[in-house]
Amino acid sequence: MSKQDTIQWIEKDKKQLHPTYHPKSHANPLVVERGEGVWLYTTDGRKVLDAMAGLWNVNAGYGNQELAQAAYEQMKLLAFTSNFSGMTNLPSIRLADKLAGFAYEGLNTTFFTSGGSEANDSAFKTARYYWKRKGKPGKYKVIARKGAYHGVTLGTTFATGLEKYHTMFGPAVEGYIHVPAPNPYRYEGEVRPGETVGQAAARALEEAILREGADTVAAFIAEPVMGVGGVIVPPADYFPLVREICDRHEVLFIADEVITGFGRTGEWFALKHWNVKPDILSFAKAVTSGYAQLGGIQISDAIRDTIESASEAEAYMHGYTYSGHAMACAVGLKNLEIMERENFPQRARDLGKRLLDGLKTLAEFPFVGDVRGLGLICGVEIVSDKASKAADPAMTVKVYNAALERGLRSRPLGNTLAFSPPIAITEDEVDEIVKRLGAAMDAVA
Ligand code: PLP
Repeated sequence: MSKQDTIQWIEKDKKQLHPTYHPKSHANPLVVERGEGVWLYTTDGRKVLDAMAGLWNVNAGYGNQELAQAAYEQMKLLAFTSNFSGMTNLPSIRLADKLAGFAYEGLNTTFFTSGGSEANDSAFKTARYYWKRKGKPGKYKVIARKGAYHGVTLGTTFATGLEKYHTMFGPAVEGYIHVPAPNPYRYEGEVRPGETVGQAAARALEEAILREGADTVAAFIAEPVMGVGGVIVPPADYFPLVREICDRHEVLFIADEVITGFGRTGEWFALKHWNVKPDILSFAKAVTSGYAQLGGIQISDAIRDTIESASEAEAYMHGYTYSGHAMACAVGLKNLEIMERENFPQRARDLGKRLLDGLKTLAEFPFVGDVRGLGLICGVEIVSDKASKAADPAMTVKVYNAALERGLRSRPLGNTLAFSPPIAITEDEVDEIVKRLGAAMDAVA
């Protein structure tokens, strides 16, 4: 396709597909025609290394023929049936069976959705329903963290801890409270003498529970590694303390592993790093490597037993048309086979170390404030001054654009550039990310 074709596609895109986007944020989109491995090929002849795996999800890489074949075979047989009202289908049963206990011991029951926002909404509704069944209907509030991203349904918008999402769509949905996230580079809460950031952030959670009243709090939700909020890797003492606090106050712990699930951080699921288990797990994205729309929650056996014991009149009324979509679940099964065969957690550990070590060599640039990561999810924080750590979002966009000009796609999130490439990436391609980013930084320096 020619450059002229691309201009025409972009004009159509802006008029008919993206008129709701601010022209500046959608000024010159990549019109992608084809992908292979970590590479995207655009209609105007560019070849771009996608160091974000789409939206942190295309872990198996683009153009995977096994996944395409799995979708095709299942669609020929049966693309869809209802997953409730007296029906079910084989791929959804097989995938739920495969996932039973896969992420965490004791989480054996899956409820499928089409994506991550629906998963978190389902987690909130399940937590409320659970406490009603337990005779504690006053427990309905959800505590989340500042900077968290949990999705765009009305409920998850207000669970999200990013202010601009709230002002846009207020008035606020009641019952969502935010506490500081354990950000070792710039913690915004109070750290008392002798306290670690992890302890301070855990204390902030406990104080919020006590302030609201434990008898009003249904759940606490957290991304094990915060993604959209700037790739925040928590200190090791944080989640074990969180688990203790949730247990002490009868608050369910929801792990939003929509980004971190299925190997991204070097463990199949990220709370494993700290030997912690949630009561409810939200997953999506990498369950199919983005080849089909699928997400879900897994619930603990205790929650399942409580749900099961409800009378017919009070039975759990929740389900999406596409819950347990046959084709999506068949793709999920094939993707799991690939991830296990290729040992994705080990790959993410090894290649993630290589990427982080490489990115750390760029810390000498005067505008690089912090470089961090866990497995194959990394963040480079851009500041105008290393000493004051003053955030520099404008410089972040400059570096991002300079990298894109050099065929490297990352993602600017506030003043952090995020890197979350396909786990199928090779060592040479990891080195290519560092090389191209370094060249971009040289150019803007
Ligand atoms: N939770 C987290 C941590 C996410 O990063 C996202 C999306 O990026 C979501 C939830 C929402 O998922 P979806 O966009 O599939 O609805």
